[in-house]
Amino acid sequence: MTGAGFKFDNTYLQLPEIFYTKILPAPVPKPELVILNTPLATELGLDFSNTSLDKQAELFSGNQMPETAEPFAQAYAGHQFGHFTMLGDGRAIAWGEHITPTDKRFDLQFKGSGPTPYSRGGDGRAALGPMLREYIISEAMQALNIPTTRSLAVVNHGEQVYRDTSLPGAILTRVARSHIRVGTFQFAALKEDKETIQALLDYTIKRHYPEIKEEQNKALFLLKAVIEKQAELVTHWMRVGFIHGVMNTDNMALSGETIDYGPCAFMDTYDPGTVFSSIDHGGRYAYANQPAIAQWNLARLAETLLPLLDDDPDKAKVLAEEAIHSFGAIYKEKSLSMLRAKVGLIEEQPEDEKLITDLLDWMQQTDSDYTNTFKDLTNNLPPSGERYDSDTFKDWHARWQTRVAVNTQPLEASLDLMRANNPVVIPRNHKVEQALEAANSGDLQPFKDLIAALQEPYKNNPDLKPYQSPPKPDEKVCQTFCGT
Ligand code: AMP
Ligand code: MG
Repeated sequence: MTGAGFKFDNTYLQLPEIFYTKILPAPVPKPELVILNTPLATELGLDFSNTSLDKQAELFSGNQMPETAEPFAQAYAGHQFGHFTMLGDGRAIAWGEHITPTDKRFDLQFKGSGPTPYSRGGDGRAALGPMLREYIISEAMQALNIPTTRSLAVVNHGEQVYRDTSLPGAILTRVARSHIRVGTFQFAALKEDKETIQALLDYTIKRHYPEIKEEQNKALFLLKAVIEKQAELVTHWMRVGFIHGVMNTDNMALSGETIDYGPCAFMDTYDPGTVFSSIDHGGRYAYANQPAIAQWNLARLAETLLPLLDDDPDKAKVLAEEAIHSFGAIYKEKSLSMLRAKVGLIEEQPEDEKLITDLLDWMQQTDSDYTNTFKDLTNNLPPSGERYDSDTFKDWHARWQTRVAVNTQPLEASLDLMRANNPVVIPRNHKVEQALEAANSGDLQPFKDLIAALQEPYKNNPDLKPYQSPPKPDEKVCQTFCGT
């Protein structure tokens, strides 16, 4: 197995022992490779062309890991829907950190590889559908140029898992810049000694923010850097209509990558209140709430850093509050600039915000499709179709044309900016569900076709048509499930 090119350097195991438990994946009887992400493997400097399919299945099921892997599960805590809980990797086991030929460091991690000391009564397993869902959406996010964990492989492990019903079980191999979460800091803070949180802070800085190393107040700089990264990330989500669905503090990565794809989904019809997750009864993680929730989660991170921000608790509190408060303005600026790009407004003009809000209001009032409206605005001047045959829209479009004419650059530059920021295809939920249903009954073709359709989401082509239509009423998926 060593021939594939794995190069492990497991620094996480140098953290205090409370942060992890060494543990092997539980063996599975009959692993079968469902998919290997060959382009990603190549990016990682891994080559499986001389590894038989059986051997690949043994590898990606955890039955036979590379000799240099040092499997472990991570401890963490977190606020789930606002309530603090002890958590940890209940069904995930890291292989270690792989170093790519260009010296990049990535965690490889199994999801669904059997119980760990953090399983809290769970079976440590995962069903095929949710693992393929993570594969589809994470790879779609990557193609959309949004920071994300990646999916390297999925195997069917040959045993059924029991949720509401019996389902085929699977294991996903996830690739991430790290799995350090806000919840990892919350876990460290529980120890109530400065050394533990300091160790995690230093480790995180070394791994993700090395430029901070020389700063005097490292905790403050880390907090500010993470605030910036998360504001950036959520802005991307809002741009493409992505709804994470479970923005618990344990599902927020310090690296700024989107992590933990559960009941996530993309919005079809534009409605800021959109919620898909079956467990999100109060709409806490609705589309439009995501920036505020990110800020809430960052406040939880700030709390863990208080002892390091200043020796004087009052001063530490002021520094934390100022930093968290700054999220509002940082996000607002990023959001406005993202929305400007979506409608091709190159320089800033005072009327921009109102122009954009009026479009969004019209979209909401007319149940317009979020993705397709921006696509239509980009492709046709003026957009054609019955939907656009209204005075309200025509007035808006005339205002837009006047505004775009003020840009010092030609119209084509606006359209290019719009094309780079408005995907023509997203993993629409009904398409995802259709692909997963087929996969559950043994037909992987719709899954593979969907993956292929999502490869270049900023380039239109006629083959994408079946993936671009919003769901018909009978295709609509109103709820998504965690599938844990
Ligand atoms: P998630 O909603 O996927 O972020 O999971 C929340 C927590 O529950 C994490 O600590 C998971 O590792 C754990 N968990 C989820 N599913 C299982 C399972 N089937 N068995 C054990 N732990 C699980
Ligand atoms: Mg999670």
